[in-house]
Amino acid sequence: MKTENFKLNTICTHVGELEDKQFKGAVSPIYPSTAYAFEHVDQKRYPRYFNTPNQQALSKKLAALEYAESALIFGSGMAAISTTMLAFLKSGDHVVLQRELYGGTHNFIVQEFERFGIHYSFAPGRSVKDFEEVFKPNTKLIYMESPSNPLLSVVDIQAIASLAKSKGVLSLIDNTFASPVNQNPIKLGVDLVIHSATKYLGGHSDILAGAVCGSNEHIEKVHSLAVNLGGTLSDYTVWLLERSIKTLGVRVKAQNRNAKKLAKYLSKNQAVSKVYYPGLVSHPDHAIAKKQMKGYGGMLSFELKEDIDVSKFLDALQIIKPAMSLAGVESTILSPAQTSHSLLTAQEREQQGISDNVLRFSVGIEDRKDLIADFEQAVAKVRAQQLKV
Ligand SMILES: *Cc1c(COP(=O)(O)O)cnc(C)c1O
Repeated sequence: MKTENFKLNTICTHVGELEDKQFKGAVSPIYPSTAYAFEHVDQKRYPRYFNTPNQQALSKKLAALEYAESALIFGSGMAAISTTMLAFLKSGDHVVLQRELYGGTHNFIVQEFERFGIHYSFAPGRSVKDFEEVFKPNTKLIYMESPSNPLLSVVDIQAIASLAKSKGVLSLIDNTFASPVNQNPIKLGVDLVIHSATKYLGGHSDILAGAVCGSNEHIEKVHSLAVNLGGTLSDYTVWLLERSIKTLGVRVKAQNRNAKKLAKYLSKNQAVSKVYYPGLVSHPDHAIAKKQMKGYGGMLSFELKEDIDVSKFLDALQIIKPAMSLAGVESTILSPAQTSHSLLTAQEREQQGISDNVLRFSVGIEDRKDLIADFEQAVAKVRAQQLKV
């Protein structure tokens, strides 16, 4: 059968799988060797060359999920991001970046680019015009992240990718928050799609990995730098990630459903002043999200009313875990002002609309009623405590 015609869950379960010829087991065997024969073989294999059997198997699955020709898997999302960007940049080049970026990506750019002589500008807003405005003659690539962290802002991916094409530069996107289940940027004209596989691809809060997907030509260019930088990962992790992706479609669709229902519930709740979810008609970017996303994702943010103490609320939760990171099957929650965005000044946070009472909620696959009950008991507990003082 032609795997190109497989639908989502068949790709997740089967594409790339290795056959267990010896014992006819149902799943891919693990090949953990770091030493492979070099004589009488057509390929020199070594884990840091990204070409062990398990790495190649998983790369095929990821490429299929993103409708790309090729993919590479890295030891972390940041290894994928840094290696991919540097593969296409040299001293004197300029990059146009979306303003709302994952903290680690932001730090990599502002802390490291200068020593390589790479210049950059953040687009002042999210429209195509904003990206075009900061374009320079030496611009070499445009970098997007949509939906963004933590307020789930969305950019018009197709329009920005076509701006990049018209200028003859490369377009990159961090597709971590959407996952390949909800958004396929290559179909919208983007050149390279990056994932922190630590999030939805792994999905169980126990794997650190990253990936980049694109054309054979672009991935070959990333590969030649990747071999030198060495950001590869062990075949045990590769195997576990392959195993985890089998349920990607099922997990993310359950998270989409839960998040949409919870976003609606929270937007009617009197303890909440604001909800950010691209699937809500009230979200400023809803129309674009509707155009380019197949599902709106499992991430949402909400603002608690001023009279509710955020720290006490987080302490009172029993199922929803206050935790860094996101996208596991278990619901987690954090305060961006206290964690992911604590390095920004209060003014920078205000510019991005991140108030101290905003909470970022990574909705898991638990039963919705239990999540709502947890939210309600935590609010009631904090209110009762506050009445006593
Ligand atoms: C977590 C994350 C990253 C970084 O991934 P690591 O696997 O932690 O290196 C990059 N982008 C986004 C959107 C993320 O959420």
